[in-house]
Amino acid sequence: MKMNIKKGDNVLVIAGKDKGKTGKVMEVSPSQNKATVENINMVTKHKKPRNAQEKGGIIKIAAPMEISNLMVVCQTCGKATRVARKEVDGKNCRICKKCGASLDRAYVKAVKKEAKKAVKAEAKEEKKKDSNVKARPEAKTQVKTKAMDKTVTTPAARKTGSK
Ligand SMILES: [Zn+2]
Repeated sequence: MKMNIKKGDNVLVIAGKDKGKTGKVMEVSPSQNKATVENINMVTKHKKPRNAQEKGGIIKIAAPMEISNLMVVCQTCGKATRVARKEVDGKNCRICKKCGASLDRAYVKAVKKEAKKAVKAEAKEEKKKDSNVKARPEAKTQVKTKAMDKTVTTPAARKTGSK
């Protein structure tokens, strides 16, 4: 059986001590039918220091829990849903039973991109109607690419710095 819950999903706990809480799936172990969800099913572990640098004491970690106690939260309609399956572009996608939107991130991204493109195209059409100046949109795109370069380089530099 294919897993209906994937790493990165937002899920709702429908049974157990954390019933009603939502969290992000951090890990899925299909062999055990279990998933680890951020801040859900927290257990206390007593940790012994193994060396001088390590601190001992009580720590809390998220323990794996039964996947049957979890429900995927649809990113599109925001509801916890059962999962249907549908073939899209040759890929087996998970579909929200409530609203019919895909639950798979890659697919959702692709759809959002398409939507953005459509909006941009519409905006361009509007501009064309507003004025017949051809130079304007070209200048704007140049500024945009420069701004994008900046936003790309800063977080990357930070990342390498922190590592
Ligand atoms: Zn939905």
